[in-house]
Amino acid sequence: MTSTNTPVEQHKVIRWHPPSYDIRVEDLPKPKIQHPDDVIVKVKLAALCGSDLHVYRGHSGIEKEHVCGHEFIGEVVELGSSYGPESAKGRPALYSSLKVGDKVVSPFTVNCGECHVCRLGYTGRCPEGFLFGSPALDGGQAQFVRVPKGGGTLFNLSNSSTWSSNLSKEEKEKALTGIADSSLLMLADILPTGVYAAIQALNHPKVLPVITGKPWPLCLNSTDVGMGNAVDFTPEDRVLTIAIIGLGPVGICAAVSILDALSSRKLPFRIVAIDLLESRREKMKAVYAAIGEDGKAGGELVVCSPDDAKIQVANWTGGIGCTAILEVVGHTSALTLAYDLVRAFGVIVSVGVHGAPQLPLTGRQCYNKNVSLDFGRCPARAMFPPAFDLLVKRQDVFGGVGEDASLIDRVVGFEGAAEIYAQFDKGTVGKVIFDPWK
Ligand SMILES: [Zn+2]
Ligand SMILES: [Zn+2]
Repeated sequence: MTSTNTPVEQHKVIRWHPPSYDIRVEDLPKPKIQHPDDVIVKVKLAALCGSDLHVYRGHSGIEKEHVCGHEFIGEVVELGSSYGPESAKGRPALYSSLKVGDKVVSPFTVNCGECHVCRLGYTGRCPEGFLFGSPALDGGQAQFVRVPKGGGTLFNLSNSSTWSSNLSKEEKEKALTGIADSSLLMLADILPTGVYAAIQALNHPKVLPVITGKPWPLCLNSTDVGMGNAVDFTPEDRVLTIAIIGLGPVGICAAVSILDALSSRKLPFRIVAIDLLESRREKMKAVYAAIGEDGKAGGELVVCSPDDAKIQVANWTGGIGCTAILEVVGHTSALTLAYDLVRAFGVIVSVGVHGAPQLPLTGRQCYNKNVSLDFGRCPARAMFPPAFDLLVKRQDVFGGVGEDASLIDRVVGFEGAAEIYAQFDKGTVGKVIFDPWK
């Protein structure tokens, strides 16, 4: 626990310094309540994420040092004056129910939960939002973290009545006591982002003909388009062909999520899961092997390099291409591959963090394939309920640490954080979790 030579007003943090590749473990003043809506969380575990590397490498244009990390789980140790049964009427439920001692996980961005944008479920773009681990807001790779708008932002893992679920109350309670913190921490980013990518693809109008077995526009089945020419589809027409580009932790979460959605809806499918790195392809294969039949029946998943994927998709579809592409890399080369693999009237869902470079697609290319492009950050807070249910259901892949099929490689202390960042940057370690008290 707290070492004796650390004064109580101080806490240990992992901090990034400009211009690049400079990670230091430092003692800083403990965060304090600055606004009545703030919550101070004592961090139990904080993860390192692929998107931390944009800052680490100096590619993000950020010039100010800051505490790293946007994925953390912990315990409430202090609440601002907005919290309490009386003062919080009409506000998000956690303002009246959150207590000191509650276990909480935070999405990677702050969201107020009470503006128009949040009400629509677009919580990742709340006008009052900030990204944890940025110059605007210190992150969770620390012993303590300040969470602004905590009543709208946090998930209370000590009170299962505060979110909806397809699980019974008993199943939720059992999950909350039985699932490891290292697994619950996936809710901060990687699992909701993977679920989001899958949901964006499967709910896109461009995939409806394949899913419903009705041609365009009959498949829309809305009151203003209730007509069209019925056609008999062949069984082959009904097979949904999907590519997942990028098999880091988020790509694997997207694969597990879309496999679960397709198998539980009994929709036939073929998925090609693609990565340049053999180690990531091997991880995907191990995860696929570990998933129970209830989470992958009704189709097949093949793991490929980018070049092999083109051949695979051409063979599967007679040269037509994939109906949906999940792009989980955030690099122009991944978008070029996505465009090569997508069919005409297909959709590319991109949840990778893209930077300054121009998109590699011309207007003519987009026109000629009738391609739909869907970009951007996952509204993690809004995605929490379906992500939680999937986390509970798929403990066969989300439960472990350091096993062949685990998304998390290891849990380490802050000592050696600079070396861990360097190894993560080189791809020699997978997802790492920091325990700030180890
Ligand atoms: Zn992340
Ligand atoms: Zn908001």
